[in-house]
Amino acid sequence: PRVVDTILETEGLTKEFRGFAAVSDVRLEVARGSIHGLIGPNGAGKTTCFNLLTKFLPPTRGVIRYDGRDITGLKPAEVARLGLVRSFQISAVFPHLTVLENVRLALQRRRGGSFDFWRSEGLLKQFDDRAMALLEDVGLTGYARLTAGQLPYGRKRALEIATTLALDPVMMLLDEPTAGMTHEDVDRIVALVKRVAAGRTVLLVEHNLKVVEGLCDTITVLTRGRVLAQGDYATVSRNPEVQAAYLGT
Ligand code: ADP
Repeated sequence: PRVVDTILETEGLTKEFRGFAAVSDVRLEVARGSIHGLIGPNGAGKTTCFNLLTKFLPPTRGVIRYDGRDITGLKPAEVARLGLVRSFQISAVFPHLTVLENVRLALQRRRGGSFDFWRSEGLLKQFDDRAMALLEDVGLTGYARLTAGQLPYGRKRALEIATTLALDPVMMLLDEPTAGMTHEDVDRIVALVKRVAAGRTVLLVEHNLKVVEGLCDTITVLTRGRVLAQGDYATVSRNPEVQAAYLGT
């Protein structure tokens, strides 16, 4: 039998807002090392699910397990320390700092340190080297000295990913990394996510079926808070219910 090593799973995950179930009895299983897409039309419950998984919202019912432990009762910072990190958490990119300084700050926050270490030239150099390596990973080497506010939109999303990587995540949750992008930027981010997913698990919320096609090993389709289908792209996209949900028929 095929043994799947599950890193994240939910059982009966439910979130109600004043009696309205935005997420309803969701069973999610994310395989370690995979790129897993969470997709569905507007209002399907993707964002709510994302917020539940990273503990930004408490569930009404259900259990979330990460890396073999029940994380249902933990706080966002606690799950982040376990290596489950969402891009949004640190996407507060500082527009007046340079791209390099933004990544350096993210590295420093991971250490949880005070600003004292800035006084040490040796440490500063270490952080800069590490930050430059991360910028290279996301294709931003040539942008290091620009302020973050000067970056074109697509490159800002790449910077967000770099600051997420600075936290050394075991599992990354990305919320619509390609939202609002041009085709060219989409292709670049897709390639980037593929690259940074090596040795990690990625859960990706995406509106667009096309984007997940070349990216995701497994896709969970949500509609009206429920899991409609799960599987690889070929299987899921052939599902008539999925087609109906996307075409709105
Ligand atoms: P998606 O991200 O797939 O577009 P959401 O998770 O944002 O979907 O929303 C799912 C449903 O839950 C929607 O009908 C939305 O209006 C509702 N919803 C989300 N957040 C709240 C909230 N804080 N209060 C009330 N309803 C909410």
